[in-house]
Amino acid sequence: MACLVIHGGAGTMPRASFSAQSYQQARDGLRDALRVGWAMLGKGGLALDAVEAAVAALENHPSFNAGHGAVLNAAGDHELDAAIMDGRDRRAGAIASARAIRNPVIAARRVMEDSDCVLLSASGADAFAREQGLDMVDQDYFTTELRRQHWLRAKEEKAGLLTRARSEAEKHGTVGAVALDNLGNLASATSTGGYTYKRVGRVGDTPVIGAGTYACNGVVAVSCTGLGEYFIRRGTAHDIAARIRYRGDDLASVANAAIAELTEDGCGAGLVAVDAAGNIAMPHNTEGMYRGAIAADGTLSTGIYADDFAVVERLA
Ligand code: ASP
Repeated sequence: MACLVIHGGAGTMPRASFSAQSYQQARDGLRDALRVGWAMLGKGGLALDAVEAAVAALENHPSFNAGHGAVLNAAGDHELDAAIMDGRDRRAGAIASARAIRNPVIAARRVMEDSDCVLLSASGADAFAREQGLDMVDQDYFTTELRRQHWLRAKEEKAGLLTRARSEAEKHGTVGAVALDNLGNLASATSTGGYTYKRVGRVGDTPVIGAGTYACNGVVAVSCTGLGEYFIRRGTAHDIAARIRYRGDDLASVANAAIAELTEDGCGAGLVAVDAAGNIAMPHNTEGMYRGAIAADGTLSTGIYADDFAVVERLA
């Protein structure tokens, strides 16, 4: 009984200012990433392969803050974070502050499988990816005109020149996926450009195993989105797993409790999770969260706001 759940971050456009074309582009991006991941699971592939493929597809899509379309830091550069975790043996790999890796999630998997590290950062992460023969790109590859505008507005805000509040979409976002395969394996992957105008060298929760990303067979796989500092302090993804594992809590209540705690912190937050029985959760406290799921019966659904989550198609 396989299933796949993805998110494209809790940093969404306010509904009122989302053009019909951009809205559709984001939903199509979610659908396409789900199809790519499902193709892996359908072929008897591992949950690990499915989350890597789905996140790589989201990294390649300009609507989301990861890979192509990532936000710019205070220096006007891109520094990318990503992680992947295999629930079979809790092996994990992550990269932080990478500058030239086309698909950070693929590099994270290589860290897991071909190095003796869990987390590689900055120039060390780029050098490792290069040694591995991964696709390397110039910083320009990641930049879109929209992100350049977001960066300029953040700069104006810092200088006290901005007359209106910036939207969540202008500030942050992330992509992530969790999956359960037919063998009962769980896996999770997350990738992000972090926060617009973040301090150079700032690392969020995404590549911190147990904060923004966690998976453990028999328990749960989790991928988070929102201001990473809160997730790191709470150890959110691992905390969800611990409550299920040690207390036997059900997924819906622990996922909702995690978001309620982050709400108390004042953090705009969301997450996707799947447990060992194939129950899924996609809670968020923000106006929207780009999200999508394929249930065990092949029903593919996507949505962004509270009331637009709907079946798009049924896959074989
Ligand atoms: N969690 C990401 C970070 O703090 C941002 C996000 O998910 O919106 O880098």
